[in-house]
Amino acid sequence: MNDSPDPSRTWLHASLAALEQEASRSADTHLLRLDLPNFPGIRFYLKDEAAHPTGSLKHRLARSLFLYALCNGRLHEGQSVVDASSGSTAISEAWFARLLGLRFVAVMPETTACAKIAAIRQLGGECVLLPAGEDTAAFAAAWAARKQACYLDQFGLAERATDWRGNNNIAESILKQMALEPDPVPTWIVCGAGTGGTSATIGRYLRYRRLDTRLCVAEPTGGAFAEGFHTGDRQARQTSPSIIEGIARPSVEPGFLFDVVDRVEEVDDIDSVGAIHALQRILHRRWGGSSGCNWVACLRLAGRMQSAGIGGSIVTLLCDEGDRYADTLYSKHWLGEHGFPAPID
Ligand SMILES: *Cc1c(COP(=O)(O)O)cnc(C)c1O
Repeated sequence: MNDSPDPSRTWLHASLAALEQEASRSADTHLLRLDLPNFPGIRFYLKDEAAHPTGSLKHRLARSLFLYALCNGRLHEGQSVVDASSGSTAISEAWFARLLGLRFVAVMPETTACAKIAAIRQLGGECVLLPAGEDTAAFAAAWAARKQACYLDQFGLAERATDWRGNNNIAESILKQMALEPDPVPTWIVCGAGTGGTSATIGRYLRYRRLDTRLCVAEPTGGAFAEGFHTGDRQARQTSPSIIEGIARPSVEPGFLFDVVDRVEEVDDIDSVGAIHALQRILHRRWGGSSGCNWVACLRLAGRMQSAGIGGSIVTLLCDEGDRYADTLYSKHWLGEHGFPAPID
């Protein structure tokens, strides 16, 4: 047996230090408060996850996935890193790979928004684009095995890579920022389900902290989360397509933990798209379609609270920045071509 220090630990320790330094340099994301005259007694809070250095809530996930791979001894100096992504995660992963000096390859559908592909390349990442309908995760896993690369596996590991008890996860961050508010314990928290990591973390944390806050998943109509949630069937499939990126998965992902979710609201794309333009008018900023989906669910829950004569707070997430959708969701031409009404100026 060799008791001398393992030289590979030197790189590991430096990489873990680099991740800790990055976290320490980053500020927490804003929790924006919104009071609407139509809902007296109900306060809305929107957690602006677009404010992360890589523009989306996937910044948290990418940091956790790298940390998880490093601490599991699966990621070594000089190794390539690969993942399957529809874009946002790959942007954040490319950013962290560059921070650690590692080659990064994103496997994505060829329909991925050009702005996302450009962002990954600008960050030094490489993009492998597959025809729509091909299994990007299977391709990424096989590529990793062939090249001895590290497969970050966002869909397989999102739910466990995040420290659900704390470590400033999204739930802990929200509740800390709510502490001085009139209703510091929200009646509802609303989020989407892409990997399921966010809903799993929030749902677990609410129980762990013994809070009565309920968790609602907002999903484009006909989604796999809703179907699986209502039937308990993990083979459930999405039954109608959606243009909302980051959510609306075709099937039940490993991170979809139905037991910690209290309610699912299904939202038509036309309403989600309308909602991001409404948010832009109120808050003078642009966010992606999944934020609109969340916001519609918040308004429905507020309507129910109002009918029941209950006041309180509702918290949701603004998931990614709207600039990525300048040529789609924020283009009058694109909206017209895809059958969406023009936004009110
Ligand atoms: C990933 C993603 C979500 C969903 O978050 P998960 O934690 O993966 O379930 C929502 N919106 C956007 C824009 C995303 O990229």
